[in-house]
Amino acid sequence: MPPSILATMLTTMPIPTPIPVPIPMTIPSPPIQATPSLVHPARTPCLWGDGTCHIALDDLSPAGLTRHLKAFHFTSHGDPWGNKRRGLCAWGAHCDAQEMNFESFGKHVAAVHLRSTAQRCPWCGRGFARADTLARHMLGTCPYAEE
Ligand SMILES: [Zn+2]
Ligand SMILES: [Zn+2]
Ligand SMILES: [Zn+2]
Repeated sequence: MPPSILATMLTTMPIPTPIPVPIPMTIPSPPIQATPSLVHPARTPCLWGDGTCHIALDDLSPAGLTRHLKAFHFTSHGDPWGNKRRGLCAWGAHCDAQEMNFESFGKHVAAVHLRSTAQRCPWCGRGFARADTLARHMLGTCPYAEE
């Protein structure tokens, strides 16, 4: 083909536009806030007996407490556990509760001494008898409350 036509073709060819360089995503992700309950797991010291049990309880449910009492306080040596045995609660210095079946100890300690069967603050682990008391605590007096 004649050079003039070739020149015309070249000049009429569209000039390629530069390919836009993709902008890297530089949006910083907010720092992940660990919830206080994970940083400060609620650990309740066992107060059963004469204060020699220094085990921190992590299961405050009636079943968990019963398991702990069976394993550490009513061992098969001398003072074995028996669901129908009756005895006094030995939690803390003084407990007003009447004699009860051993199988009731866990529920009793959970409900009376730990209030773990009630509402529980997810941040500090404190127990509350009512949901509105817990809500007020979380809004005000909880030591781990978020600002
Ligand atoms: Zn104990
Ligand atoms: Zn008691
Ligand atoms: Zn709290």
